[in-house]
Amino acid sequence: IPGRTNLCSNHSVSTPTDLPPSNHPHIYSSLDSLDLEGYISFNDVHIAAKDFGNRYHSPPLAVLHPRSVSDISSVMKHILHLGSTSNLTVAARGHGHSLQGQALAHQGVVISMESLRSPDIKIYKGKHQQPYVDVSGGELWINILRETLKHGLSPKSWTDYLHLTVGGTLSNAGISGQAFKYGPQINNVYQLEIVTGKGEVVTCSEKQNSELFYSVLGGLGQFGIITRARIALGPAPLMVKWIRVLYSDFSAFSRDQEHLISKENAFDYVEGFVIINRTNLLNSWRSSFSPNDTTEASQFKSDGKTLYCLEVAKYFNQEEANSINQETEKLLSELSYIPSTLFSSEVPYIDFLDRVHIAEIKLRAKGLWEVPHPWLNLLIPKSRIFDFATEVFNNILTSNNNGPILIYPVNQSKWNKRTSMITPNEDIFYLVAFLPSAVPNSSGKNDLEYLLKQNQRVLSFCEAANINVKQYLPHYETQKEWRSHFGSRWETFAKRKHAYDPLAILAPGQRIFQKAT
Ligand code: FAD
Repeated sequence: IPGRTNLCSNHSVSTPTDLPPSNHPHIYSSLDSLDLEGYISFNDVHIAAKDFGNRYHSPPLAVLHPRSVSDISSVMKHILHLGSTSNLTVAARGHGHSLQGQALAHQGVVISMESLRSPDIKIYKGKHQQPYVDVSGGELWINILRETLKHGLSPKSWTDYLHLTVGGTLSNAGISGQAFKYGPQINNVYQLEIVTGKGEVVTCSEKQNSELFYSVLGGLGQFGIITRARIALGPAPLMVKWIRVLYSDFSAFSRDQEHLISKENAFDYVEGFVIINRTNLLNSWRSSFSPNDTTEASQFKSDGKTLYCLEVAKYFNQEEANSINQETEKLLSELSYIPSTLFSSEVPYIDFLDRVHIAEIKLRAKGLWEVPHPWLNLLIPKSRIFDFATEVFNNILTSNNNGPILIYPVNQSKWNKRTSMITPNEDIFYLVAFLPSAVPNSSGKNDLEYLLKQNQRVLSFCEAANINVKQYLPHYETQKEWRSHFGSRWETFAKRKHAYDPLAILAPGQRIFQKAT
């Protein structure tokens, strides 16, 4: 799209004076005069000026608190009508848990999607139909879980953390330990209601307006605003058997992970994480897990080692409590972990899914939640995961005291190729997530600059070793990098942008397209 595919500049710090002065009075009064069910605020812009990553700060001009879909459509149409006389852009803001300003709109309009949440979450369970739930795009996944559980139902695919919105995770993918079985969250949606960049309200699904449907799923907010979503449900279990075991050999660890995701009726959740040089590791697990063999577990030493923890879960109901132990024992007998490191626990399903929130509460209490988060999420093809692990976990990283490193494989066959989400082109690929918090300590090693350099070393290694990694929750500085991220799908992505958001008004914080002026 000539003239529309330029990168936005990096507006990490900004003031209202960045806009042509003549724009301001005109824009203020025109937005203020819109007839809305909700309201537009010019005073609380600071709440939409940053995100969880806490590195990019950029206040919008206004925040829309919509009460209806037509509020969103009116604002979009109004901005479209202003055309190139304003440089207003629009960002939907879910829970603001992006990392590099993806939900910000520099001097534009941020739409607070949580204001659109409807008081009732509608659940359908017809006799001849798979059950589903209809929710607002601004709804938090934790609320959907609480509501669906009342009917013995639950969404099938999750993220590790549930205090995120439907629109936010569906704009990316929504990946967790269930994705090997059900695919990511974007593959568990039946229908969407979208306000496009032209202000049109469109219902879409696999059968109806399917191009828009698949564009928006994993579409980084580029094509429209998700105002409603119809999400697939399945039966909810009551309890979860949650197991952790350790490996010192990466090959054995990844072989077992791949074995487990190839089995249909094995575990319901498969993840894993890397532990580098941790003292007293197993002791720290005892508050939530019990060792299988207390004496052996107390003799195990983690100091100085790089270890790989396989984390699996099996769902069950009360009447299956006896058979579940036999089933998990059988599955575990097929694996080659270090026997003394078997730990397990039984918890209610909701506690298992909402587990990261417990960590959030603790970190908030210590003032360690609202710190910079230089996170890096990569998708690595299976054929190169050993090379990646050898270099990154043994040579580039010397500790993971500053935050977890997740690693687990998923099956490409469970990912619908028609969505906008980009994955490596192999049957199995791994999600590797470096999730540090930048909290300076006395050695100065955990500071932001150090962690950012470490991320860069990981990325540089992948490039030098020719590992075809794809970033998840991608962040790029140049259009060359975006084109390379999308590869042969770039032209389609750009064409769809032109079709659904011709002035490139939406989601400017992704820095893919720049609004035409
Ligand atoms: P926001 O950050 O508000 O928005 C993200 C992007 O989507 C922006 O570009 C925004 O403009 C756009 N957007 C938001 N709402 C809409 C909408 N309704 N319509 C169209 N576009 C919209 N991800 C995983 O996949 N798996 C995980 O396990 C996981 N764990 C996480 C744990 C934590 C603690 C955090 C902070 C993040 C985690 N994430 C995970 C990442 C998370 O899924 C994304 O950051 C997601 O975008 C956050 O949702 P949000 O509602 O905060 O979206």
